[in-house]
Amino acid sequence: MSGAEPAAAQRRAELAANLRDVEERIAAACAAAGRRRGDVSWVAVSKTWPVSDVLAVVELGVRDLGESRDQEAAGKAVAVRDAFPESTVPESSVPESTVAWHFVGQLQSNKARSVASYAAVVQSLDRARLAYALSDGALVADRVLRVLLQVSLDGDASRGGCGPDRVGPLADLVAGLPGLALAGVMAVAPRGVDPRPAFDRLAGISDRLRVQHPEAREISAGMSGDLEAAVASGATLLRVGSAVFGPRAAPLR
Ligand SMILES: *Cc1c(COP(=O)(O)O)cnc(C)c1O
Repeated sequence: MSGAEPAAAQRRAELAANLRDVEERIAAACAAAGRRRGDVSWVAVSKTWPVSDVLAVVELGVRDLGESRDQEAAGKAVAVRDAFPESTVPESSVPESTVAWHFVGQLQSNKARSVASYAAVVQSLDRARLAYALSDGALVADRVLRVLLQVSLDGDASRGGCGPDRVGPLADLVAGLPGLALAGVMAVAPRGVDPRPAFDRLAGISDRLRVQHPEAREISAGMSGDLEAAVASGATLLRVGSAVFGPRAAPLR
């Protein structure tokens, strides 16, 4: 037999190698920061990539997937559910479902009900209206949605996130709403500058939040380009897209 490897097998090998690289980077970052590897988890952000890639990384062991658009995420969630009946997936870290979908993008309130029907975690809650809408959606879907409060660290409203001063009131609201479980904070680093000071600020915001809400332990920070800095600043959850799937054709975040 000779000739080119089938494209699917080649892509799968590439994804497997990328996953190993990401694991190595996270392990090295934890070691450098004196943190336990088990204290940091990560989400593979599959936005813009085809369902075939999502299925491939699930087969390779990924259980947490991130998306930033409802329509795309909803379609992929159905495809994964269809492809992996629960019992056939070994060692799922997520009881009762094959994978956990994390919604990480800006979200309109009118999409909240849809997102609540498939997502395990919404990382981008940044306003009261969205909290009410997600709570409604979670009740309709009869499930509990874990929620991270997205904080804007640079005042750039186009990327979502509430001001640091809004975190306390929003946390109190979310903690009191049915169907939602307050799980922590999330931020995207400011563009074009050293991310470390911003990630340190986020860690401080998390410290203050946990005085009133000790259950809100997650700190979601760090992407493909800056995950080491995020781990050094105490991130518990990373969101990794291009380091797994490759560069996206068009910037989309
Ligand atoms: C796309 C996206 C990511 C992943 O970014 P990469 O640089 O590709 O790792 C992380 N977080 C959010 C909110 C995103 O939209």
